[in-house]
Amino acid sequence: MKVMKFGGTSVGTAARMQAVARLVMSAGRNVVVLSAMSGTTNALAEIAGYLYNRNADGARDVIGRLETKYLKTIQELYSSADSKKAAEAFIHQTFEGISSATRELFGQQQEKLVLAQGELLSTRMMELYLKEQGADVLLIPALEFMRTDAQGEPDQDYIAAHIKPFLEQKADIYLTQGFICRNAHAEVDNLQRGGSDYSASLIGAAIGAEEIQIWTDIDGMHDNDPRLVEKTSAVRHLHFEEAAELAYFGAKILHPTCIQPAKFANIPVRLKNTMEPDAPGTLIDNRPEPGTIKAVAAKDKITAIKIKSSRMLLAHGFLRRVFEIFESYHTPIDMICTSEVGVSMSIDDTRYLSEIVHDLKKYGTVTVDLDMCIVCVVGDMDWENLGFESRVLEALKDIPVRMVSYGGSNYNISLLVKGEDKARALQALSRHLFA
Ligand code: ADP
Ligand code: ASP
Ligand code: MG
Repeated sequence: MKVMKFGGTSVGTAARMQAVARLVMSAGRNVVVLSAMSGTTNALAEIAGYLYNRNADGARDVIGRLETKYLKTIQELYSSADSKKAAEAFIHQTFEGISSATRELFGQQQEKLVLAQGELLSTRMMELYLKEQGADVLLIPALEFMRTDAQGEPDQDYIAAHIKPFLEQKADIYLTQGFICRNAHAEVDNLQRGGSDYSASLIGAAIGAEEIQIWTDIDGMHDNDPRLVEKTSAVRHLHFEEAAELAYFGAKILHPTCIQPAKFANIPVRLKNTMEPDAPGTLIDNRPEPGTIKAVAAKDKITAIKIKSSRMLLAHGFLRRVFEIFESYHTPIDMICTSEVGVSMSIDDTRYLSEIVHDLKKYGTVTVDLDMCIVCVVGDMDWENLGFESRVLEALKDIPVRMVSYGGSNYNISLLVKGEDKARALQALSRHLFA
């Protein structure tokens, strides 16, 4: 049995939903996980925003527009009057529930309930469509098996135990919601934005799936994906660690949280493209590919901060003090390079930059470089391999490099260059590494 997850864009219109239905009907007995139709969770979050601000009119406006969109979609989706009627009733009921939030005191619990409606809608619509097409589908409610514990972490034992009875019921397609769950107090909650991939991964691990498929409307890593520039050919295979390195670069190949459950349960994840369903996609698993460089990625709008202090020389506790400053402003550090008398760090969240710089000045001389870009080479970068570092640096010999980070993992080398040099750096790397 496989887990097949379809993102918001894959179920974004009636036509896309029909394509998904065709796909899952020809794929055998599997668990199908759906996101909300694209734009829905954002709209629901917007409604919650209005309600927190006690602007019921603003909320009603968004609710009205969203309901109209759904009512229009079902007209295109179904051919039978019965399906249309059933879907209409469900949609009215759902939006009545959301509207009732405009009349009550609005808090976190109400917000979670509102946010959960997108996946509840898309799965119910899909269930009706699959039934109309004659499929043997069972809708299994995520709220009855997907749980987080007191720490907010998925409760793997609970999930495995509670999904099992559903899968013992006879059906061809087990359909369920991504993203939504209950917390340790059994209140409706979610796995954070983009969490449907996480749901798929958790379900895959819970049932020991043969494969977890993440279907999206674009190929796993496409030549013209703006976030993964200068690839010579699509990446067919990645190690989980390589996928994790790439996830940071906003390559929306896989939500970062999705990697752990699948990796530990040793279940391969396959990224598939709904537009090209027969293509093999990108396979992610625990199998190493010695000596292979897989991809080059970049992330811009990075800020580099350097602190230099002769007090650091032979001192201990210096790094801790520096890191505590970042920590106190909830600002993650991405890259770090140290020398005996200085540390350079990069951040991408600059909301507290001036406060951080102010506090760092207690410990040394601080310099800031704005508009930098991290360029990252991902692949088998085991330190015992010969020649990779030099090939990377050789490729960049005409480009000023501000920082180099190597040895943090066995799977990447990161370099910090000026934002304006990004394209040149990526081209040079791809020429040298993939030629
Ligand atoms: P959603 O997040 O809306 O549920 P997906 O997870 O399928 O839907 O995709 C999120 C967004 O990222 C979509 O706009 C999709 O087109 C884009 N996307 C997904 N995967 C890739 C990829 N590998 N390369 C480029 N863009 C992608
Ligand atoms: N619908 C949710 C979101 O937009 C979850 C997901 O799409 O993965 O964040
Ligand atoms: Mg997504």
